[in-house]
Amino acid sequence: METLPKIPFDEFGPERMVVVYDPKTKLRGYVVIDNTSKGPAKGGIRMAEDVTLREVFYLARAMTWKNALAELPFGGGKSGIVADPKIDAKRKEELMRAFARKLKGIVPSLYIAAPDMGTNERDMAIFADEIDNMDACTGKPSELGGLPHELGFTGFGVYVASKTLFEHIDVNMQELSFAIEGFGEVGSWLARFLYRDGCKIVAVSDSKGVIYNKDGIDIEKLLEIKRTKGSVVHYPDGTVLKNQALFELDVDVLIPGARPNVIDEKNEGRIKAKYIIEAANIPIPWEIERRLHERGITLVPDIIANAGGVIASYVEYIHGTAGMAFSMIKEKISENVKKILEMSESSGESTRDVALKIAKERVSKAMELRARV
Ligand code: NAD
Repeated sequence: METLPKIPFDEFGPERMVVVYDPKTKLRGYVVIDNTSKGPAKGGIRMAEDVTLREVFYLARAMTWKNALAELPFGGGKSGIVADPKIDAKRKEELMRAFARKLKGIVPSLYIAAPDMGTNERDMAIFADEIDNMDACTGKPSELGGLPHELGFTGFGVYVASKTLFEHIDVNMQELSFAIEGFGEVGSWLARFLYRDGCKIVAVSDSKGVIYNKDGIDIEKLLEIKRTKGSVVHYPDGTVLKNQALFELDVDVLIPGARPNVIDEKNEGRIKAKYIIEAANIPIPWEIERRLHERGITLVPDIIANAGGVIASYVEYIHGTAGMAFSMIKEKISENVKKILEMSESSGESTRDVALKIAKERVSKAMELRARV
């Protein structure tokens, strides 16, 4: 029999963990409601064969901080369905409906879903239909009042974070070289925004490998190659490298935008970039981030840089427009990036540590006001 993993409970949570099993459909899944002092727990549904309760907990905790930093009236949560997201559409619908049925009592009062890796706007339409409440989730198709993630909100937010960083330190972004890991929802939009602003992107990766050209990649052409041939490695004008090589390239700016823990004890000493902007969730363990900070590398952490998606979710939740979402993302992310850079400069602490300090203060205050402590 499976035993429950050790979850590091602390004063913030998690408040509830729901383990779901449905004998009829064989659905297995998890929901972690980390902290609801600022509002219902908000976070996506990840579908993966290897998703675990522990992983869902860490993602839920990251949402608690991200939502507090963006000053949204949401707490932090996340959920996971243990299944291969490439299953046929009928089976996926069956699992989404079974999952929604199991959560009827807590959605949307305590938990509001969204798409995450392995789920998309169609899955959200099915989830909301089964709950019988369109406020059950965000990231729905536009026909159902949604602001689909495919409008590029998260990539836009990472672009805003980059622009704010370089304006703050008075460096001309157009003279720098960029390497981006991942060319999916986040990476491809980010690359587009940077390229349109005249930035030189010298390396881009996807699951098949890295395409590298020191003189810069034509991103419009790369998007076309990805669409027609399935991978960035088919871009004709560049060298193909192994995935891990991206992190060690001699570039100015490194943007991890796909997998967790890509910079670890093995490669941290070989990082040459002077700036790291985290588009992916948890791409670097925190203790390594602190060592990179001590080496003089400037880093914008995930809980600030990739908040564009959840800010857009909030705008969908209040039934706003895509235009409102883009302007709120710009305002909130630029303000937060400036704030953590200034605090880090004056205290000497890493940007991660100062961001966590702000988030913890806000969540603690909300808990205090609600007499939860
Ligand atoms: P996605 O599934 O759309 O794209 C992932 C990309 O990563 C694909 O291009 C895939 O080929 C690539 N990839 C997979 N394995 C790789 C490898 N070994 N090396 C290099 N590339 C690899 O996912 P996404 O929505 O773009 O999410 C990417 C990251 O951003 C995740 O960490 C996610 O949690 C985070 N994030 C996403 C959003 C959002 O709105 N989509 C919001 C916040 C954070």
